[in-house]
Amino acid sequence: MHDGYNGHTITALRPAKNRVDPYIPYHFLHEQEPGLSGGFETVNTVFLTGRECAFKCLMCDLWKNTLDEAVPGAILKQVDYALERLPPAKHIKLYNNGNFFDTKAISPGEYSAIADRLRGYKKVIVENHPKLSNRHCLEFKALLAGRLEIAMGLETIHPEILPRLNKQLTAEDFRKATIYLNSHNIDVRAFVLLNPPFLTNERESIAWTIRSLKFAFESGAVRCSVIPVRPGNGVMDMLLKAHDYVPPTLGMLEEVFDKALSLKLGQVFADTWDLRFLSKCSLCFDQRVKRLEEMNLTQQIKPPIQCTCGND
Ligand code: SF4
Ligand SMILES: [Zn+2]
Repeated sequence: MHDGYNGHTITALRPAKNRVDPYIPYHFLHEQEPGLSGGFETVNTVFLTGRECAFKCLMCDLWKNTLDEAVPGAILKQVDYALERLPPAKHIKLYNNGNFFDTKAISPGEYSAIADRLRGYKKVIVENHPKLSNRHCLEFKALLAGRLEIAMGLETIHPEILPRLNKQLTAEDFRKATIYLNSHNIDVRAFVLLNPPFLTNERESIAWTIRSLKFAFESGAVRCSVIPVRPGNGVMDMLLKAHDYVPPTLGMLEEVFDKALSLKLGQVFADTWDLRFLSKCSLCFDQRVKRLEEMNLTQQIKPPIQCTCGND
């Protein structure tokens, strides 16, 4: 088994980035999420075209829609572009394919103007690396009219695999960051992986995803998303060929999600973005994804979809 790859090797194996416009967010959408105290809440999600993240995690493909360098003032223009086109919503997510509090991606000098645009929102959700939980988070929070929630990748608490992901993070770093943010009234949502590289046994992989979810909630996260790890970033395709990474099945995602919901530790989501790579049966795939989406919204386990394929 390979010990892991450094940032230089990981970037050398990458295919080309997508062409992106620094003044236009590469995607935005209006969606619903369950409220923390029941009911549904509307969310506007803006995927900002930002500067590429300085961390080079093994499994990451978010760099595909990023710029090599930040363009001063461009993030604000992108927020305006999206807000002019989105309907009103209760909450807003600003995801920049990296870390909102990476000052090379978004300068603290821009916080005030961005916060001003977000005045009508009850909650603002941004993504950030746990190691960048610092005074910049507090500065931005102080400028907001609504509450701040920070989404952070815990990825996995597997003690041999987390160090190999080049995330430059320990489970303890995540826990400390969550405690710090919570102590400043900032909510935390966590991302955990299903089938990270080097975890190729199905039963073990499911067990570690559940353990990681539990750890995130015990640390103080209020929501947790399960992300099935996909190939396609260069190094993951190499790991796939070497059998050091195995794509999860839709059946595994369903099992983890059912288990996680039954634990009732907090809100759990199965990430359903672009799940086509998990499709093995054209008869039941769409219905099964729809079931996951309904479960994301209701936080209730729905009856499984029956199919002649046996639902792998
Ligand atoms: S910290 Fe997040 S955005 Fe940055 S490389 Fe890792 S997974 Fe990708
Ligand atoms: Zn089927």
